[in-house]
Amino acid sequence: MKKSIEGNNRIAPLIVVSGPSGVGKSTVVARALELNPRLWLSVSVTTRAPRAGEIDGASYSFVSNAQFSQMVESGHMLEWAQYAGNRYGTPSQPVQASRQAGVPVILEIEVQGARQVREQAPDATLVFIAPPSVAELDARLRGRGTEDETALAARLEIAHEELSAMPEFDHVLVNADVSLTATALLELCSDPPE
Ligand code: 5GP
Repeated sequence: MKKSIEGNNRIAPLIVVSGPSGVGKSTVVARALELNPRLWLSVSVTTRAPRAGEIDGASYSFVSNAQFSQMVESGHMLEWAQYAGNRYGTPSQPVQASRQAGVPVILEIEVQGARQVREQAPDATLVFIAPPSVAELDARLRGRGTEDETALAARLEIAHEELSAMPEFDHVLVNADVSLTATALLELCSDPPE
């Protein structure tokens, strides 16, 4: 396990959870947070419209294109990416504050963002959640029913591309069982020993 060191002060781990849309990243992360409420899940900013049941400020911070551009230009994003026609990004300040307070941080983001975090925070641990098979990934994406046909086709194409990024990650967890995957993720989130 890598060590997070800033000056003489140890800062808490930063865990990046990535992988294709539909692989179950959110479910795995939600289960990991239930099992260890001490972890903090970063709230991303997005230009995507809220889905039914999503809460502004909790699921995402939903912003306009202009607001998003302003955050990028003023250097407030740790990373950001364009994904299926919308933009998504991680505000840096809360991530830094949480880590400095000793609270491990989880980012649940797509692959381009994970690459940027690797550049910005080389001590981050990058975890790829993989599907048991490509056929299963397609079935999960279709079964979710949250997108219309055009959006679904775009997400399927991106998901297939994202699978090829797997070797860039520090760890790959195959999500065949949510609780087992969440438990394996928690093992990667524990603070390194003194
Ligand atoms: P969705 O629209 O399904 O909520 O998210 C689409 C994709 O964007 C998912 O792969 C999700 O993990 C990713 N995503 C969510 N927040 C962020 C973020 O802050 N940065 C990046 N790069 N990707 C994100």
